[in-house]
Amino acid sequence: MNLEVLWTNFLSQIKEELSSLSYDTWFSETKLIDFKDGSAKVLVPMSIYKKHLKDNYYDLIKTNLDKVTNSDTTISFVTEDEVNIEKEEEKESKIAVESIPKDNNKYKFNSNLKDEYTFDNFVVGESNKFAHAAAVSVAENPGKMYNPLFLYGNSGLGKTHLMHAIGNYIVNNSNKKVLYVTSEQFINDFVKMNRKSKGENNFDDMEFFKEKYRDIDVLMIDDIQYLGNATKSQQEFFHTFNTLFSDSKQIIVSSDRSPNDLKLMEDRLKTRFAWGLSVNINPTDVELRKKILKRKIIAFKAPLDVPDDVIDYIAENAGSDVRHLEGAITRLYAYSAIMGSKSITLNLALDALKDLLDNGTYEQNDIQRIQKIVAEEFQISVEDIRSKKRSANISNPRQIAMYLCRKCTGESFPKIGTEFGGKDHSTVMHSCDKIAHEVEVNKDLAKIIDKLTEKIG
Ligand code: ADP
Ligand code: MG
Repeated sequence: MNLEVLWTNFLSQIKEELSSLSYDTWFSETKLIDFKDGSAKVLVPMSIYKKHLKDNYYDLIKTNLDKVTNSDTTISFVTEDEVNIEKEEEKESKIAVESIPKDNNKYKFNSNLKDEYTFDNFVVGESNKFAHAAAVSVAENPGKMYNPLFLYGNSGLGKTHLMHAIGNYIVNNSNKKVLYVTSEQFINDFVKMNRKSKGENNFDDMEFFKEKYRDIDVLMIDDIQYLGNATKSQQEFFHTFNTLFSDSKQIIVSSDRSPNDLKLMEDRLKTRFAWGLSVNINPTDVELRKKILKRKIIAFKAPLDVPDDVIDYIAENAGSDVRHLEGAITRLYAYSAIMGSKSITLNLALDALKDLLDNGTYEQNDIQRIQKIVAEEFQISVEDIRSKKRSANISNPRQIAMYLCRKCTGESFPKIGTEFGGKDHSTVMHSCDKIAHEVEVNKDLAKIIDKLTEKIG
């Protein structure tokens, strides 16, 4: 029988036995919302009805309901709010059930790898030769050669590209399971699991996390410096690291600075990083930039050629971040298309890239800015400042620049060394000491330093 019909029958019976006041007050707004196996659930307008009906009318209700339904009934009373809560709970448990991943291969595994980053399209030069070689050897022998592999260097030098290249290589040449995540994704996954665990049973979320991060052969975490502020996530990463490492699973980590310069990282993690191989990707030099530009131009498949003097111009002025090279090429082609140019010339390039190259868009950090200021002062090129050239007219300004970088930015010696074409930290330290000493005795030098310091601001 339909619930509504059933309840109408019931009400018409009970109405006969009650005063109209009692009936109107206590029964007119009730509703049968569930009836199963003799259990009736009756919706009432407010909590107070529940108690009143139970204490005063239970027997009467039962007798009449038994009659109407021809069964031995039990009755419960609920309010609208309680029904809503029940519904929510039901929905949640349904979602939980639905989100319980199916057995084995519980969720669709996503390695997060980008196909377009491969070893094939990674251009190798002096500054990234070592990092490239280490990456290839890890790709060929995951978990065996260098574990963990720690890649570090400034933004835009190809760390992410190399990680994906390693992952793509492994996936294409074995049936190993590779997972690439940014440290942000790792933190999100961890927080999600943790938040749920404060509530009820989150067994499934924990399983999910464990399966995602432990049931793999290669784990890559990009930009791990961002884990610095997330203490709990670091701890979890430590456990993940240990589990994978003891199973000889490959771990690859990238960062914008060396393990030692990760100030907010737990020491025990830094120690782990030191177990494997740390490789520095140095800022690109002009030669590498030219090579990369030529490759990007080919990949662009644009109808117009870019002459060598334009490539030289961009390579010499665009700074070391490879993204800027890509940006310059895109802009150059866009500009030539808009202008309807039939060929690309140096003049066109100067116009197209003027804003970008002149206004310092391409200076990425303070060290590079200081290098530029010092280079201008001594009328040498920034390339020279970063080079290994030993002639006094270049090495003196270089030492001054190192000194100023240390003084004005407080960056670590290794970090400054990296920016100066990959010099050893002891070289930087020596230069800083030397200039600091000379400033004390050489008034002219002191004046120059003051002037430069003011310019740096
Ligand atoms: P990072 O992770 O170090 O900040 P990315 O790997 O994201 O740098 O590189 C930035 C861009 O420059 C990407 O599009 C990448 O493909 C490109 N790139 C960097 N280094 C090279 C290289 N040696 N050869 C070709 N492309 C490169
Ligand atoms: Mg990156």
